[in-house]
Amino acid sequence: MARKFFVGGNWKCNGTTEEVKKIVATLNDAQVPPQDVVEVVVSPPFIFLSLVKSTLRPDFHVAAQNCWVKKGGAFTGEVSAEMLVNLSIPWVILGHSERRQLLGESNEFVGEKTAYALSQGLKVIACVGETLEQREAGATLEVVAAQTKAIAERVSNWADVVIAYEPVWAIGTGKVATPAQAQEVHCELRKWLHANTSPEVAATTRIIYGGSVNGGNCKVLAGQPDVDGFLVGGASLKPEFIDIIKSAE
Ligand code: PEP
Repeated sequence: MARKFFVGGNWKCNGTTEEVKKIVATLNDAQVPPQDVVEVVVSPPFIFLSLVKSTLRPDFHVAAQNCWVKKGGAFTGEVSAEMLVNLSIPWVILGHSERRQLLGESNEFVGEKTAYALSQGLKVIACVGETLEQREAGATLEVVAAQTKAIAERVSNWADVVIAYEPVWAIGTGKVATPAQAQEVHCELRKWLHANTSPEVAATTRIIYGGSVNGGNCKVLAGQPDVDGFLVGGASLKPEFIDIIKSAE
């Protein structure tokens, strides 16, 4: 079964109101492949979600960059899945390596967040990926399998999950994985899903690549059979994001 190409833009902790309006205007003016060819989701900081949601073209969708692990309540500074649903935000990014590394989010915590977000009706971009040290130690596949297992143990509805393979050493470094490196991990992740979930989940779940993707390197990465799209950080704030969307064709 064909997997629809998916391009996510992670704006991280960037932007002023004026800058956000400019990015949205650029996206709204862009000529891109139709929705049945590519699914586009942009992820502004929480504070700009409503602005982006209300001004972005209707064929592009919006994601939050995180949400709380359970029902909201006395959790100062957090934003709950219910609140995102209330704002009609369809997607959330969970388990980004910046949160795993800087805020100590464990595999289990990310798995629990994913299960809860799905239970509330959100769709999840679930991030996995190894550090440089882990890659050099030959542990890449073991690390991404353990991260995926913590999700698979808690999730049965894979239709609303996109896996983002984002090697930590490639994020924000300008050091993109080679097409062969990306393809190898994506293919192994798909085999893992085949063995541990179901052949259907393995065949239909989108596995997207993230880490220093730009307008120049996207086309060759998109040509890999198991690369179903991208999660883009830095370049999603620039007009070249449009070229990355066009790599779907
Ligand atoms: C990211 O933050 O998800 C990411 C892939 O960043 P960048 O594209 O800047 O490497």
